[in-house]
Amino acid sequence: MAIPEEIKRNKTYLTKLTHGSDLLEELTGICKERNIRLGRIEAIGAVQKAGIGFYDQKKQEYQSIIIDEPLEITSLTGNVSIKDGAPFVHVHATLAGPNGRAYGGHLTQGTIIFACECMIETFDGPAFERAFDRETGLSLWKIY
Ligand code: ZN
Repeated sequence: MAIPEEIKRNKTYLTKLTHGSDLLEELTGICKERNIRLGRIEAIGAVQKAGIGFYDQKKQEYQSIIIDEPLEITSLTGNVSIKDGAPFVHVHATLAGPNGRAYGGHLTQGTIIFACECMIETFDGPAFERAFDRETGLSLWKIY
């Protein structure tokens, strides 16, 4: 059984992201600029195109999917922790097309913002650092 760490809420940031920017790079840039090392991210809006990853658990590698069409960000949620000593953003998104059907997965670079309203809630607590996890092949939280 995993024993969760207790963390305390700190500041919350609200912002509008930059039209035409890469969504993942913009979020990472904000976290580095504000020195956010532990946090929760939530956003809604729209993208011009999207990059989504699906983790193949057998091969232990991401399959990348590019969806080259405008999509609504119906839900974007994720976290900020530390990888290689720097803030690292991990987000998943559900994105809907004109017919209302949705795509979803691990957000990757290549997702270009049309409009995006974003909230980043920050926490005080122990460092959540990412390290290679042999069982999954992923870079997961190594909690001390
Ligand atoms: Zn993911």
